[in-house]
Amino acid sequence: MFDIVVIGGGPVGTTAASLLSEKGYRVCLFEKARHPRFHIGESLLPMNLPILERLGVLEQVKEIGIIKHGAEFNGIDPISNKMRRETFYFEKSFNKKYPHAYEVRRSEFDHILFENCKNKGATVFEDHRVTQVDFPSKGQVSVQYKNAEGDSDQLQARYVIDASGRDSLLSRKMKLKQKNPHHQSSAIFGHFSGVERRTGRDEGNISIYWFEHGWFWLIPLNDGSMSVGAVCWPDYLKTLEGSTDDFLWKTIAMNDEVASRMKQAKNLGEIRATGNFAYTSKKMWGQDFMLLGDAFAFVDPVFSSGVYLGMSGAVQAVDTIDQCFKAPEKTAQLCNQLEKRIRGGISEMCWFIYRFTSPVMQRLFMNPKNDWQVESAVISMLAGDIFDNKEVKIRLKFFHFIYYSHMLRMLPGSIKSWLKRKRNVQEIFRKGTMPEDRID
Ligand SMILES: Cc1cc2nc3c(=O)[nH]c(=O)nc-3n(C[C@H](O)[C@H](O)[C@H](O)COP(=O)(O)OP(=O)(O)OC[C@H]3O[C@@H](n4cnc5c(N)ncnc54)[C@H](O)[C@@H]3O)c2cc1C
Repeated sequence: MFDIVVIGGGPVGTTAASLLSEKGYRVCLFEKARHPRFHIGESLLPMNLPILERLGVLEQVKEIGIIKHGAEFNGIDPISNKMRRETFYFEKSFNKKYPHAYEVRRSEFDHILFENCKNKGATVFEDHRVTQVDFPSKGQVSVQYKNAEGDSDQLQARYVIDASGRDSLLSRKMKLKQKNPHHQSSAIFGHFSGVERRTGRDEGNISIYWFEHGWFWLIPLNDGSMSVGAVCWPDYLKTLEGSTDDFLWKTIAMNDEVASRMKQAKNLGEIRATGNFAYTSKKMWGQDFMLLGDAFAFVDPVFSSGVYLGMSGAVQAVDTIDQCFKAPEKTAQLCNQLEKRIRGGISEMCWFIYRFTSPVMQRLFMNPKNDWQVESAVISMLAGDIFDNKEVKIRLKFFHFIYYSHMLRMLPGSIKSWLKRKRNVQEIFRKGTMPEDRID
C-alpha cells in the first residue's frame, strides 16, 4: 500500500513525488510516456531556481540550459508607429538573489526531474497510463492503470495527486474542467536550426514579437537550435489549410523581423499545433485528492510561467498535504488556504495575459518607466515573484492604474482589441468543446 499516488511524471508530478518521498511518504508515480519525451515550454523563470535548488538538481539543469538574463519584447509602438525592442533584465527585479533563469530542452529537463524523484525514493512506472481513480471510502484511493502491453492492474493508496498536465484526468472525469471565460488562444510551434541568435549576454534571452493575430516566441536552446512558435487567436488558427508546416511559415512571413531571423532556418522535426488551451478547474482539491500544475489550470504561455507556477504549486502542496496527514481535522482549512494562494498567483499573471495583445500594453511595454519602481515590479512579475513580495504587489496595482489611465487615452484601439478577445472567447464557448489536444 502506498501513501500517495502521483499521476504524471512532468515537472509538477516529479516535484511533488520527490519532496513527499523526502518527507518519508511511500510515493508511487505513473507516467504514461517514457523519458526523455518531447514537451513544449522551454523557458524557465528566475523564481524556478530556488525550487531546483531545493530539489537538488540546479547543477544538472545548468549543464543542459542556456542562461536567460531577460525577456525581450518587440513591437510597433502604437503612438509613434515605430518598431521598438525592449529587453527587461531580471537583475532589475526586486529579488536580486536570482538575476537570471535558464532556457532548457524539456525532454532533458523533465528527464532530470524524473530521475531525481526515483533517486529520492519514489516508486516510478513509465509507459503506464492511469485510466481510472476511485474513492471507495475516506482515506482510500483505488488507482487503475494500463501498461505498454495493454495489461491492466490496480493499486491502493491513501491519497492521489493529479499532475497529468493538459490531460487533466481527474478534473475531466469529475466534470470540474471548464474553459477560461476571459481568454482563449492557440499555438503552432516547432524546433529549428539556423535561426539568427542574439549575441553576447543576450544570447539566451527569450524574444517575443507582437503581430496582427497574436504573438511569436523565439527561445534559444544550448545546442544552437531555437524553439519557435506563434500563439494566435483561435479564429486565425481556424483558417489553417494545408500542412501545419506551411501554415507556420505563412504566419512567420507576417512579421518582417521574425521572418528575417528565420531566413536560413531549417525545421528539425514535427510542427505541432494546439487549440484553445485556456482552462481551469472548478476546484483544486477534494476528499483524498489534489489537482496540480496544468492538471488544475493553464492560461497562456506569454510570460513563460507554466512550469514555475506548477512547480511552486507542487512545493506548497507538499507542505499542505503533509500537514493534513498529520492533522486531518485541519484539511479543509489548509487546502482552502492553498487553493486561494495558488488561484491568487494565477490571477496576478492573468491580469497581464488578458491584456497582453492590447495596444495599451504594447505601448507600456515599449516605453517602460521606472517611476516609483513600477518597471522593477513588472520585471519581478516576469521573474515569477508574484506570491509574497509586498513591494511588488503594491506597485503592480499602481501599474494597473497606469494601464487604465492610458486606456482612456487610447480608447478606440483598446475597445477594438477587447472586442476581438471577447469574440474569440465566445466562438470557443459557442462550439461547446473542451480542448482535447495535448502538448506532449
Ligand atoms: C504552446 C505552449 C508553450 C509553452 N511555453 C512555456 C514556456 O516557455 N515556459 C513555461 O514555463 N511554460 C510553458 N508552457 C506551459 C508548460 O508547458 C506547462 O505549464 C508545464 O509543462 C506543466 O507541467 P505539468 O507537470 O503540470 O504537466 P506536463 O508537463 O504536461 O506533464 C504531465 C505528464 O503527465 C503524463 N500523463 C498524462 N496523463 C497521464 C495518465 N493518465 N497516466 C500517466 N501519466 C499521464 C504526461 O505524459 C506528462 O508527462 C507552454 C505551454 C504551451 C501550451
